[in-house]
Amino acid sequence: MKFKQALLGLVFLLISITSQAQIKTLIVDGQNNHVQWPKITHMMKDYLEETGKFKVDVKRSAFTWQGEEFIKAFPISGTENTEALPKSKTDPNFKPNFKAYDLVICNFGWNAAPWPDATQKAFEKYIKSGGGLVVIHAADNSFPDWAAYNEMIAIGGWGDRTEKDGPYVYYDNDGNLQKDMTAGKAGHHGAQHEYQIQIRDTEHPITKGMPLKWLHTKDELYDKLRGPAKNMNVLATAYSSKDFSGTDRHEPMLMTIDYGKGRIFHTPMGHVDYSVSCVGFITSLLRGSEWAATGKVTIPIPADFPTAEKTSQRAE
Ligand code: ZN
Repeated sequence: MKFKQALLGLVFLLISITSQAQIKTLIVDGQNNHVQWPKITHMMKDYLEETGKFKVDVKRSAFTWQGEEFIKAFPISGTENTEALPKSKTDPNFKPNFKAYDLVICNFGWNAAPWPDATQKAFEKYIKSGGGLVVIHAADNSFPDWAAYNEMIAIGGWGDRTEKDGPYVYYDNDGNLQKDMTAGKAGHHGAQHEYQIQIRDTEHPITKGMPLKWLHTKDELYDKLRGPAKNMNVLATAYSSKDFSGTDRHEPMLMTIDYGKGRIFHTPMGHVDYSVSCVGFITSLLRGSEWAATGKVTIPIPADFPTAEKTSQRAE
């Protein structure tokens, strides 16, 4: 009997230690021009939880826009009662309890309706006081008129962003980081293709130990992103070739940003499922998420990481 009780006690202790150590993560989504967004949320949740280091909840706008078919195919418990709308519209009851989480991952996209004012204010306060944020792909198209959000993502595209929002940021062909105030629109991509990621910061916890170059699976290569670009660190770039109607510049692909005490990890990669299932993307997402939440990275670079010449993919 005593042995049983001791064993039970040990099990409870182990469970509580494991759950305490887990990073409480909230994916926010619901409005995105990329119709696969519910699948992408599902994939990210699975990849994060498979590590044992993250416990992931999803808070979805009750007014979903686009992706109905994928909402049905990739259900997330607690998000069933969503109402699909012909136009993106603010859900007045979208009030995630950000404070309950170590990390928020934004999977909103182009043309997402603004969050309610009180939610924006709560989110600003949450990040400023040390919250973590991860921004993927079209989440850097969202909320062009929200000044604090633009500072958090550092650079973004579309949504009538122009020189009024800040410089273009890129590495030139001589290896110099440029902040370029040339007038013009923000955000562009050519045809999807596989492209090489080049690490620019080999000492940052997220990129430390990654091969200096690795081949990303087929994806859109965002170029001409621009914004406030304050307190940002470009960890990795990809060359945007004229062969794909690109810029002949090296565009930021992995970035970190400080906003108050908050840490932000931003990657413009991740257009669709075959882009997100790239082992390079997954590893960057996991390590970027851990860093944004804790300031440290313990998640290793896996053995099946892509090389400079060869892509590597997991199950979608
Ligand atoms: Zn896209």
